[in-house]
Amino acid sequence: MSLLVVGSVAFDSVATPHGVRDDVLGGSASFFSVAASHFVGVRLVAVVGEDFPDEHVAMLREHGVDLAGLERSEGRTFRWAGRYHDDMNQRDTLSTDLGVFEGFDPKLPDGWDDTPFVFLGNIHPALQAKVLDQVKAPRLVACDTMNLWINTTPDELKRVIERVDVLAINDDEVQMVAQENNLVKAARKVRAMGPRWLIVKRGEYGALLFAEGRIFAVPAFPLEEVRDPTGAGDTFAGGFMGALAAAPRIDDATVRRSMVMGSVMASFCVEDFSLDRLKTLTRQDVDARFRQFKDLTSFDLD
Ligand code: AMP
Repeated sequence: MSLLVVGSVAFDSVATPHGVRDDVLGGSASFFSVAASHFVGVRLVAVVGEDFPDEHVAMLREHGVDLAGLERSEGRTFRWAGRYHDDMNQRDTLSTDLGVFEGFDPKLPDGWDDTPFVFLGNIHPALQAKVLDQVKAPRLVACDTMNLWINTTPDELKRVIERVDVLAINDDEVQMVAQENNLVKAARKVRAMGPRWLIVKRGEYGALLFAEGRIFAVPAFPLEEVRDPTGAGDTFAGGFMGALAAAPRIDDATVRRSMVMGSVMASFCVEDFSLDRLKTLTRQDVDARFRQFKDLTSFDLD
């Protein structure tokens, strides 16, 4: 089974209460691809500049990520800088430098138009739509976005949301899209816009899945030290989509298990800066933490 992702491949400069890193590997598609690569073959569509080092390309390739859709353009790779507060659920974006993203026109390599699973990572909704236009009859499409696009390109974003099966966004973004403060009411409004499933990411408080008539909650794995939360949302999406694409069928049970796998992968991401923990992960590490979630979340009714 294969899974296509379009999103950013970036240089991040990050400051958290646990340290500072400059120009490390980041971007929604990087976190997503490496997380999903533990479960299925990943096809990456993105753009980098001439300054993007071969070592990052090699790391993605070692994870089995198909890079035929990774364009290298003249100019600088996308850069993002952020600073976390002591409460690491809060962060400020210090700068965003689009670089080669400015002229990006995503084109799927030959043979990729039949990819069954598609993830539209957080980039301009017009670019997300361009990718969606090129895939024929996908089994499942999921999408992420951020406050920037909700505020600046609401109509283009709405047209993308109408076309996806799963929308995976943060709780404050759900409230912004729905213009409703109560999360349950806001989720109902957002699902009415199109997506069958809405995943609400809530940082250290875990994630909620809203489906027809049901809500499922998964906690974040309790960790003694969170060093850098950057990419946790994209990594959650990579674990979720990877597990779902690898499942024999898509039903309530597999969607719930995939939510847990999303939380498992996100918990590894935040243990270190950039993709440092994710890139050393083994399938045994993943499976062991997945089993710990069973103990963390199950209880008897009496
Ligand atoms: P997350 O922590 O899951 O919200 O994802 C953070 C990642 O998103 C960082 O690695 C950034 O490089 C990337 N990012 C931040 N802003 C943007 C943007 N406007 N477009 C694309 N990617 C972005």
